[in-house]
Parts: sequence; C-alpha cells; structure tokens
Amino acid sequence: MAVSQLIVDQLKKLGYLFYAAPPEDIFVEKLEDKKAFSVEVIPAFVILIVLEQLCNWWENKFSARFSANDAVTSAAQGMIMEIGGILTGGIGILCYVWVHENYRVAELPWDSWSTWLVTFLAVDFGYYVVHRAAHEVNIFWAAHQVHHSSEYYNLSTALRQSVLQEQLTFFFYLPLALFIPPQVYAIHKELNLLFQFWIHTQVIERIGPLEYILNTPSHHRVHHGLNRYCLDKNYAGVLIIWDRMFGTFIAEGEEVVYGVTKPVKTFDPFQTQFDYLKYIIKRFRRQKTWASRFGVLFKGPGWSPGKPRLGNVEDLEDVHAPTTVWNPEVASWIAFYGAFHFLVLAADYVAIANAKVVNGSFYDLALQALYVFFSLTVIGALFEGRERAKSLEVVRVVFYLAATQILPVFSFESRFGRSRGAFELSMLTIHALSLLFIVIQILKGRPLKKSNTLSVKQANYPGANGRINTCIPRETVDEEDPTEKATKTE
Ligand SMILES: [Zn+2]
Ligand SMILES: [Zn+2]
Repeated sequence: MAVSQLIVDQLKKLGYLFYAAPPEDIFVEKLEDKKAFSVEVIPAFVILIVLEQLCNWWENKFSARFSANDAVTSAAQGMIMEIGGILTGGIGILCYVWVHENYRVAELPWDSWSTWLVTFLAVDFGYYVVHRAAHEVNIFWAAHQVHHSSEYYNLSTALRQSVLQEQLTFFFYLPLALFIPPQVYAIHKELNLLFQFWIHTQVIERIGPLEYILNTPSHHRVHHGLNRYCLDKNYAGVLIIWDRMFGTFIAEGEEVVYGVTKPVKTFDPFQTQFDYLKYIIKRFRRQKTWASRFGVLFKGPGWSPGKPRLGNVEDLEDVHAPTTVWNPEVASWIAFYGAFHFLVLAADYVAIANAKVVNGSFYDLALQALYVFFSLTVIGALFEGRERAKSLEVVRVVFYLAATQILPVFSFESRFGRSRGAFELSMLTIHALSLLFIVIQILKGRPLKKSNTLSVKQANYPGANGRINTCIPRETVDEEDPTEKATKTE
C-alpha cells in the first residue's frame, strides 16, 4: 500500500472518533456490512493516549493526571466489555432486529441523509435517557459505576466500560426499531460511543462556541466530578443540548475531583465490574419489606428507607480539590512488566474481536476470553503488589507457551492465520524470557510492593464523600450494618 493511501486510511479511522465517516461506511445495505469501528480505531486510541501524555508531561502535570496501573485497568474494562458483547452475541442488536422485522410501522431509507440526521438525533437522545437512568436507578448504576470508578480523568478513562450496561439497558432504544433500519441504528450507536473518547481529557480546556452545542471535555469533566456542583449533571453523549433542555446542565467551575464515593480501590477486573452489584444484593437481602427491596433496586444509589427517591443532598459532604488518590506503589520493574504484558495481551484480544467478525465458534472464543480475563486478573494483582501474583504469572506464562503449541484453539494458525513466522517467534520469545525473568524474581525474593501508602496526587483527601445519584452517602451503608461502618470509615 502506498504511503499516501496509508495516511488517508488512518485519517479516515481517526474520523470515526469524531463522528466523521465517509458515505461508504455509513450507508450500508445490510447489518453484516457494517464496519467494526471499535476495532479499527484501536491504533488511534493508542496514539492519542500517548500524545495526551506528552501534553501532560509538557504542562508538568503527567503524574497528577495519569497513572499506568489505572490506565491499564481502564483499558482492560474496555476489552472485557467488548468480549462480553461478543460472547452474548450482541443481545441488544438481536432484539432490535427482531422488533424491526416484526413490529416496524415505517421503514426509513437506509441510504438517505435525512435518515442519517433523524437517527443521529434519536440515538443521541436515547443515550441521554439511558445515561440519566444509569445514574438514577441503582441497578443500572451497578453497571455504569464502572465507567466512573477511576480517580483519574484522561483518555484511557473513556475505555473503562461495564460488561453489563448494554445487556441491562438496550431496551431503552427499542422504540427506534419501529422505523430505523438496524444497520443504521448500529452504526450511530457505535459512533456515538466512540465520539465520547476524546472528551475524556484535561488537556483541552474549552472549544469556543461549540461548547453551546457539543458535549466537550469541559462538560464531561463535570459529569465525572464529585464536587457537589457536579453531581448528576451533564449526561450528554454528543450533543449537550439535551442537558440544557432538561435542566441537567452546568458549566465547569472550580477544579473537579474525579471518582465515586464508594471507590473499589482495586485493579482486579472482576471486582471492578461486579463489586457494586454484590453490594446491592447484600443491601437487598437486608431489607425487611418488598417496598424497600424495590427501592434498593430501582431508586437512586443514594436512596434508603425514608428518603426521597434520589436521596438527600444534605447527607453528602462537599468535595474540593486537592485530594489524594488510591495508588499502591509497586517496584518500577513490575509496573513496567505489567504494562508491557497488557500491550502484548492486546494481540489475544484482537484475535477474539476478529474471530467474531468472521464468526468464530462460541466455545473457542469463550476459552480465549477466559485466558484474557485471567491474564487481566494477574496483571491487576501485580499492580496491587500482591505477592501471589508472581506464582500466578508463572502459571499464566507456562499456559501460554504450552497452549499455543498444543491446543488448536490457541494456535497461531487458528487465531492469526499464520504460524512459524516472525510474529509467533517474537511472542514465544517474549513469554519465555518473561517466565525466566519472573522465576528469577521469585528465587531472589524481590518484593513487589514499594510501600503500602496512598500516593499523593494532591493533598487533603476528604474520604468517602457522596453524590446523590451516583454515589452512596456513608449513612446509607452505616445505618444498616454497624460492622461495615467500621471498615468503611477507616
Ligand atoms: Zn455517567
Ligand atoms: Zn465518561
């Protein structure tokens, strides 16, 4: 391929992140012809994240705005969301197709710009509704809180997504199936989410008059904020006009503090995805009446018996910068090792994503997905400085070396369509050297942890302050379980 063609191709893919795609990509006749935009933009994700860190470094704010363990955890959740969607066969779009085929009242033409505009507005308004529900209904928040669980705010935060959210909320979009063709809907749904990548940054302050119409980095910083003025504001996807229309807009004011008030404090993917759900189940089982059990599931996260649907703002302590973030420090060699192996793992993820595109078998994909999930768990444990992570890493690397040679489902031939080449040789060498390296570390008894303290990004951490909808006021926990109080208020 000529260099100029390569540049045009990459620019086209970069455009997907800004809702810009050429007609041949957005006017497709069948759902099967739709491009896998989220896979195509992976190189752009990496390049933009690196560029953002160069800007942060230039502004002397690199360590305040970015941490590799947090970024890897965020990107890992994005992988898990995509793999979850692949394994569930895209239940949301399957239901959409079923409704469209059986109950449509009109069929908008798939190749018309007016359909494009109607779908753009309909999907974006749908996103506003779903997103607001995800903050105001506790069971939906159980999924969406994953996205808010980082205490940093940078481009990698955008990748931190819930594996459950689509499965729990897809039905909100089903009314669109009455008149919008599935492939048009699917394209806009994906572009809408991809647009939200670039707004997760502190590098861009304001973008002039576009702030009136578009969701921007400034507006979305507010959405991720814990400061009282930020609570339950700016739910927009692409257009901020919905927030302006429905009274949920507020402009960015004092410096934003990021995160949730019930922080998971872990890099473990299972806990990041499901700990809040476990917490809801625990609260549900403690309730004495069905009315309060219903409330735990369907009222706001800040609700408890006797309070308004969304809780009381007075229960919540206001939060102001500066604060500190949870960041266990590990030896620098392990931080590098973990980040490097996450990048190596991206090849295994892309193999799953591409196999889906060419209809890989469910069990083959599920086995590969289990390996990726296990690997992410081990990398998370390394970042937390857990000593058992070293032996788990030995198991993981030995499995990789054996499975790629013995098990057909893991072979390079079946996953990448080529074997015995430079790619296989480099991957095997990387894993063999890693095995040697980690065994040496075990024999030498080098500890993973540098210290067990909080890393000070800023000072004066106020503790578990709450937001009405998206966070749990401490009282919600404390009133119900005195033993939990002791641990939560440490
Ligand atoms: Zn949100
Ligand atoms: Zn966000």
